[in-house]
Amino acid sequence: MNVNDTEVIFSILSEAGYTRTENMEEADLVMANTCSVRDNAEQRIWGRLDVFGQLRSRRPGLVTGIVGCMAERLKDKLLDSGKVDLVVGPDAYRSLPRLLEAVAPGAPQMDVRLSREETYADIKPVRTDGKGISAFISIMRGCNNVCSYCVVPYTRGAERSRDAHSIVREACDVFSRGYREVTLLGQNVDSYLWKDAGETVDFAELLARVAAVSPELRVRFATSHPKDISDRVIDTMAAHPNICRHIHLPVQSGSSRMLEKMRRKYDRAWYLERVARIRSVMPDCGLTTDVIAGFCSETEEDHRETLSLLEEVGFDWAFMFAYSERPGTLAARQYPDDVPPQVKNRRLNEIIELQGRKSLERYRSQVGKTLEVLVEGPSKRDPSQLCGRASNSMMCVFPAAGRKAGTYAVVKVVDCTSATLICE
Ligand code: SAM
Ligand code: SF4
Repeated sequence: MNVNDTEVIFSILSEAGYTRTENMEEADLVMANTCSVRDNAEQRIWGRLDVFGQLRSRRPGLVTGIVGCMAERLKDKLLDSGKVDLVVGPDAYRSLPRLLEAVAPGAPQMDVRLSREETYADIKPVRTDGKGISAFISIMRGCNNVCSYCVVPYTRGAERSRDAHSIVREACDVFSRGYREVTLLGQNVDSYLWKDAGETVDFAELLARVAAVSPELRVRFATSHPKDISDRVIDTMAAHPNICRHIHLPVQSGSSRMLEKMRRKYDRAWYLERVARIRSVMPDCGLTTDVIAGFCSETEEDHRETLSLLEEVGFDWAFMFAYSERPGTLAARQYPDDVPPQVKNRRLNEIIELQGRKSLERYRSQVGKTLEVLVEGPSKRDPSQLCGRASNSMMCVFPAAGRKAGTYAVVKVVDCTSATLICE
């Protein structure tokens, strides 16, 4: 999502006459787009601000800025640090040109207003993926859930869905420019709902419309919420071969007691039922997840339930985190962060170890299968080979054999690691 927001910022700034450089030493303006989801993400940015400070002392006149969630969360605290000239929140990027006009030594500028309407629907992001094959399309902003551990609703504001026609137009536009994959982005894509003049578009309908752009265009999406993913969405995926067979379905915990405390609004049984439904309709669907270890009051029993859920479902891969208390969230206000760091880390390591084993099992289960991949380009490890993802999102590596990036190839899986399928 931040990559896509940065693309929106590039677009706004290029309209204002700025050009982009890859070299920080020659830039007149340097900004960092930031994440506040965990404390260590913010700590890295404080480290980056020291680098900005050194640059500024060598090159007076250089303007530095912090944009995104950390700008929204810390506001004046960032300005007071004296390390930046600009602080701009996720809904205020349109004001960047105005703020840049006004910024001067001793006159830093800030805009952290949140909006109920802003979706940047009319802005054509300047793509930064470099390969011209896969594009992010933001379909909504903000979040209306209040998961007790999560800072996102405070930094990104209320949920709003983007004009469905502008989303389809953007998909058509990238397809006509040679892109062959779009990923529809939102914190909770299943609650996408756009209404206008008698027309109502929900996420299932939006998926169908984007899939209809071309059978040659792959459609992916993230992130689904287990409480909201509907049978209609699952059936729409099944009905369109170009909607990729992959769902990222963050579970967070396998313990219903923890899920209740996290205010996720589903329990273990509900989650397992959704997985069963997905697999009954699309047996080949890739499933991935997010897990938090050591949330407030988590017992060994709760932790074992997370391990048993990971064992039972068998995800292809997972993002796994130690709980990080975020100021201002419901959990920070109401529950002590009482799982000692060494216990959190031990539980996280057990989760990572088990998931590594499950990933290898999942990847091994693909050996012998024939898969269609979208060729992305040379493999990082071995540039004589190509790489690309299968519909289920697994990364495949295979001999080039004259294939070009942006085309489809049919490969046979002959071997694997826990993160790559080795193919012919
Ligand atoms: N909206 C998505 C959802 O609800 O599944 C996820 C958004 S969040 C930016 C990405 C992931 O970060 C979450 O799924 C969760 O696992 C993790 N996360 C969020 N807050 C966290 C916290 N305070 N500590 C550790 N991990 C956290
Ligand atoms: Fe955070 Fe929950 Fe919203 Fe996801 S759904 S962004 S975890 S509050």
